[in-house]
Formats: sequence, C-alpha cells, structure tokens
Amino acid sequence: MSQSFVAPTRDPALRASDRHANRLLAALNAREYAILAPHLEPIQLARGRVLFEPGDEVTTTYFPCRKAMVSLLIVTRDGREVEAATIGREGAVGGIVSEGHKPAFGRAMVQIGGEALAIPTSHLEAAKTGSTRFTDLFARYADALLAQMMQSVACNALHTAEERAARWLLATHDRAGDNIIQLTQESLAEMLGVQRTTVSAVTSGLAARGLIRNRRGRVEVLDRAGLERAACECYRAVEDHFARLLPEVTT
Ligand SMILES: [Zn+2]
Repeated sequence: MSQSFVAPTRDPALRASDRHANRLLAALNAREYAILAPHLEPIQLARGRVLFEPGDEVTTTYFPCRKAMVSLLIVTRDGREVEAATIGREGAVGGIVSEGHKPAFGRAMVQIGGEALAIPTSHLEAAKTGSTRFTDLFARYADALLAQMMQSVACNALHTAEERAARWLLATHDRAGDNIIQLTQESLAEMLGVQRTTVSAVTSGLAARGLIRNRRGRVEVLDRAGLERAACECYRAVEDHFARLLPEVTT
C-alpha cells in the first residue's frame, strides 16, 4: 500500500475538530461527535493511494473531507476494474456496510487527492452501540451507499459511455467545490471500465458541445446544466435517493 502523501492544499490544515469538512460527521450532534473526536486523525490522501484491497481486513474508516474523493472499485481476476461507488465528503468508506472488521470485497482507491479524517473502525462500532441515533445515521448512509452500487449495476450494463462519463463528472463536480476536476483520461477510463480511446472520444464530444474543456490532467466544467442533460438518469436517481434518506447530510 502506498503511503505517499500529496502536497499540502491551500486550505488550512485539517484538524480532528473540523467536523464540518465532512457532512456525515457534521450531521452528528456535539455530544455524539465528542465520542469520536479523540480517535479521529487528520490525514492526507494522495491520488491513487489504495486504502484497502479485496480480502483485506478493514480496520480503518475514512471520512473524506473537502474535495477528497474515493472510488470503490470491483476488480476482476485479470486486473481490470470498474467503479461501483464514489464517496466524497458526504460519506465514509471502510466497514460501513459490513459494520466492523470484515474482509473488503472491493478496492478503495483515492480518486481525487485531499484530506480525510481516519478512525479505527472498532471505535466507530463502539460509538454506534451507545447511541441509537448514531446507529440510525450510519445505517441510512449504508442504505444510500448500497443504492448507489445498485444503480451502478444498471448504469454499467445499460447506459452509454458518454452518459456514464457525464454522470461521473457531475458527481465529482458536486464535490470539487469549483469547476476544475483533477482527472486524467486514463483514470476516467479505468473507472468506467472502457478503453482510453473511448474516453477520449467521449470527452472530445462533450467538449465540442461546449459542456467541458479538456486540459492536461484535468477537466473544466463549462455548462453544468448541459452536462446534466447529457448524463443518464442514474446521477439524479442516486442524488434524490440520498437526499430522501439523509436530509441532514444533504445541503
Ligand atoms: Zn447510468
């Protein structure tokens, strides 16, 4: 596992007390957060860092903060991978669905570098046993994550590469905080499970219609509404379900 760190961002350094840097943590009340706070460690996540591989025992839960984004990827035996879920500052990764120390089924990889608050999963589980509201919040988040994965099954099987690329760009744009998404064609191809030439054709098409601008290693969103029209229904379906399940996490 790579332990390399990204260069510091321009934002002030993250502290364990910065619970508003992650919306799931921000939804906890002060008393609930105080139970977790002593065990939360601010860390830097470098793009490409693998948090866990299939079969690894998950011992750490990560709350991506600010712009950081983690992909849950399904890896096939021949090494190919495709994204099942995208997790940013609205959520957490590691031991969420399985609740505790269980082997991971997929690979968790940092897609957009940034900061996170990390906690031993055992501390998160202990906090849940002491608070029904806490348990309820994380159970609803697990439901939302499962819904996103279920939607990805349909998306990967039924929707075009362009629709899926637009969906992914929208989900990332939501978390980016500005119009620039740090993204290489190669990593987009990996996440969508398509050839790089396919991604190149798709992004060129979106750019030709004025929706995005391709730059070296990044994509600029020029027409958000147009990108929503270009995406399949999956983006809106996942967002709406999340908002229904977790209104206090949605802003
Ligand atoms: Zn779709």
